[in-house]
Amino acid sequence: MHYITFLDDRSQKISRARRKVNIKLRGYDSKTWVLPELSYLSLPAYAIAYSPCPTYRDIYLEFVQGMQRPFTWGRYKGKLIDKIYKRVHSTCEKCVSTGRLRDFDMWNQVIQMRGSIVEEAKRTHSGDLAAISPQPSTRLVSSLDEELKMLVTFEAGLTSALMNYQISKVESPNLRRIFSQYFDFNVDLSFRALHQGFRGDATPDFVYKHQVVGDIKSGKWQAFFEQTMIAYALAYEEHTRQNMDYGVIFHVGIEPRRTIPAHYRTRFEILDDPKRMRYIAVRNRKFEIIHNRIDPGLPTNSEACDPECSFFMNCRGNAHA
Ligand code: SF4
Repeated sequence: MHYITFLDDRSQKISRARRKVNIKLRGYDSKTWVLPELSYLSLPAYAIAYSPCPTYRDIYLEFVQGMQRPFTWGRYKGKLIDKIYKRVHSTCEKCVSTGRLRDFDMWNQVIQMRGSIVEEAKRTHSGDLAAISPQPSTRLVSSLDEELKMLVTFEAGLTSALMNYQISKVESPNLRRIFSQYFDFNVDLSFRALHQGFRGDATPDFVYKHQVVGDIKSGKWQAFFEQTMIAYALAYEEHTRQNMDYGVIFHVGIEPRRTIPAHYRTRFEILDDPKRMRYIAVRNRKFEIIHNRIDPGLPTNSEACDPECSFFMNCRGNAHA
């Protein structure tokens, strides 16, 4: 996650983007709200922010037919990855709040915690492992530890290098101040956004510099990731009545052929009006499906269905579906 600071620092993406923004559709504006005739409905954040199905049949199956969304290996791994980044952030924060300049060594302190950070993430989600369907192979489960440790190592390296660089430029550095100015992440914000149709809180993975709403994604790139950024930006705007112009999908790729995480799919976006209009149309379509109780059917092209879709076995695994 601190990779975002590194990227921003190298390219000044946010300050460059700021000059181009002129957004009219805001989450506190009724033009973006769920249509009045559908406003008795609400959906949990994951159903609003994620749209893996081209026809939104997943919404019909879960919220009209009442089918339980199976818990996949991808979702389990995604939860662990989110937890790892949040723990790395809090570990770094602890290094600067308790450390003195004389013995400051963020790299070693985070690396020493690496095993316990991974174990804690697994412990937090130990109950989820048994619920995964289909059950993952032992090879997948046993390689997970090393993959998660690789993420900690990479973030420890970037964060300590950036901190050391900032410290080196100042005669009497205040460690805590440098960290909070430079790694300005909020990782536990939640927003009430009833007009946006959220049931319960909307909780993006992080908000960066109070300017960028961010979500951590892993696995293959999905077209709907753009929608996730907009959903959380509109929720932020409804709750805070402050503008949120930028989004980032921090994409975490773990590839067997490399020992360094792949972040080349990570994207900063200006959350402009055309993107907001596309998102609102999709969200309204989901609410119409529930309201009308009509099965939207399968996509005509069977390849449009991702085999990792939670409902793949229901829709494509049965010839009579
Ligand atoms: S299997 Fe295909 S039709 Fe069914 S919910 Fe998934 S993407 Fe949609």
